[in-house]
Amino acid sequence: MTSQRTRDRLVKRLRDEGVCDERVLQVIGNTPRHIFVDEALASRAYEDTALPIGHGQTISQPYIVARMTEAVMMDGVPERVLEIGTGSGYQTAILAQLSPRIFSVERIQALSDLAKRRFELLGLRNIRLKYSDGTMGWSEQAPFDAIVVTAAPLEVPQGLVEQLGVGGRLVIPVGPSGDQILTMIKRTREGFETTELERVSFVPLLGGRS
Ligand code: SAH
Repeated sequence: MTSQRTRDRLVKRLRDEGVCDERVLQVIGNTPRHIFVDEALASRAYEDTALPIGHGQTISQPYIVARMTEAVMMDGVPERVLEIGTGSGYQTAILAQLSPRIFSVERIQALSDLAKRRFELLGLRNIRLKYSDGTMGWSEQAPFDAIVVTAAPLEVPQGLVEQLGVGGRLVIPVGPSGDQILTMIKRTREGFETTELERVSFVPLLGGRS
């Protein structure tokens, strides 16, 4: 159930759904998603679906992980990437195989600790984690070439937008549960360009630490 053939089937499905960045597809095909979920769910890890990871949270659907990763790679590989919502660490691990430096913030300590162990297991050494409310980003490490937010606020937090470098992209689901749009904001020399990508369903971005 966790064989290379099963992973290849997932990649084919993502391709059929319109994911076309070969760099992203290759990394998804090589990443063992089953180690990012509870053992009881391992047999479902290569289905294109979100799955529970405890604490009321979910590991993102592979299609959405692929779309968000593609979106931030459109103008080339971003050097420094900030992720808000480490969760299982799956999206983080995908980014870490494509970009040199990843910073990821999570507000639930137990999830952050588990993710850290998974990165050690996979030998991913270019990830820095922080246990914190990520609504305000990670100012000490800014500016970022890309920011990926994996939980949905009602409105785009201004603090995050300000941590984008010129040419940088923020990809973020925005809106209430049941009515969210995956949104991309690009910082240009003149200001900001906003593009709406597609309807999505994410857990809410919450304030404070848990
Ligand atoms: N990328 C993760 C998605 C996990 S779900 C994965 O694929 O597994 C979203 C995560 O965002 C949850 O773990 C949740 O605890 C976290 N989160 C929600 N609000 C947050 C905030 N303000 N700061 C940091 N993390 C937050």
